[in-house]
Amino acid sequence: MPAPHLLDDIDAALAAACQRLALPAYRAKQVRKWLLEKRAQGWDTMTDLPKALRTQLEGEFQLWTAEVAKHTAADDGTEKLLLQLAGGGRIECVLLRENIGKRAKEVESPASLAPEGRRRTMCISTQVGCAMGCVFCASGLDGVDRNLTTGEIVEQVLRLQHRLGPEERLSHLVVMGMGEPLANLDNLLPALNEVSRPDGLGISPRRITISTVGLPPAIRKLARSEDGSRYRLAISLHAPNDELRNRIVPVNKNIGVEAVMAAADDYYTVSGRRLTFEYVLLAELNDQPEHAHQLVGLLKSRNALLNVIPYNPVEGLPYRTPTMEAQQRFRTILETGGVEVRFRHRKGDKINAACGQLRRSTPPSVVPITSNL
Ligand code: SAH
Repeated sequence: MPAPHLLDDIDAALAAACQRLALPAYRAKQVRKWLLEKRAQGWDTMTDLPKALRTQLEGEFQLWTAEVAKHTAADDGTEKLLLQLAGGGRIECVLLRENIGKRAKEVESPASLAPEGRRRTMCISTQVGCAMGCVFCASGLDGVDRNLTTGEIVEQVLRLQHRLGPEERLSHLVVMGMGEPLANLDNLLPALNEVSRPDGLGISPRRITISTVGLPPAIRKLARSEDGSRYRLAISLHAPNDELRNRIVPVNKNIGVEAVMAAADDYYTVSGRRLTFEYVLLAELNDQPEHAHQLVGLLKSRNALLNVIPYNPVEGLPYRTPTMEAQQRFRTILETGGVEVRFRHRKGDKINAACGQLRRSTPPSVVPITSNL
């Protein structure tokens, strides 16, 4: 049997190890600090631990269970990792760098920019594949293989953290990679708890967003769990009525827009956090004026932000990005209707940074490489 993954439950694992090996408790704190704050990539770098102890711990635990199968970096500072998991399957995670108050176009090469005043967001996955079957999305094309473990979720964050320069700090985390996070809440919540701890990565829960297709029972469970209601919730709506949503987001057939909105309202009431709705804009499918008007009807009385994402095309799928005119028309109707709307500019599309795309475009046999595009 392989040694346990340390990142599955760092504190419990280290506490047990300290007891077993008759070590003082501060040794656990030291290891924690190395991993979460000092970005250690291996036991050998933990230089204030005696060498014999490092060797001992190395035999007790697996520090990493994934291998970086591919690393890509784009000119705009976006970096993406394709991870090959020891437990089988491949997943993706992304680091996005944005200048606060600046448009993507104005961002020069990342090296030339001062580290302060930038937002650094990590996007992580929760499952190998996805069972939701949204028709435009690359992640679910082959269905779902399995849930990620807590350790595999935390590992993505730490692996991306290794990509940051010494002056750079992680500021935001979005659970918007592969998979449906609310279908893996039991493993996700301990991971987010770890990531938000002040004696670790210290990402404020207000800066952590969980994106869901909208599963009402799981949304209510999240709202009622002590940790869960601290985060921001984003709901992938993609259509303002059932007829259209059933076509774009097939799981809607068993749920319905009304039930999704009721669960979202419940989350808002319990958490007090403003809701985000996501809307992937697909040419001639959900980008018509009538859709914008219906969205106004759904959202204008709610304390909500509408995040519109012009479609990032996926090879082999028939969907297209709307023209600039169609996007503008859509936006104007929403703004005139009193909905707060933000268009999410595409970052990293040259490196297939949309969910599931890198996995599909990379053959499984790929050897570990680092490439700069
Ligand atoms: N299962 C979660 C997380 C999915 S990824 C959810 O449904 O919210 C986060 C967002 O990216 C979702 O809104 C998803 O619909 C969207 N998305 C997926 N593929 C996309 C693509 N090719 N172009 C634009 N947005 C995409």
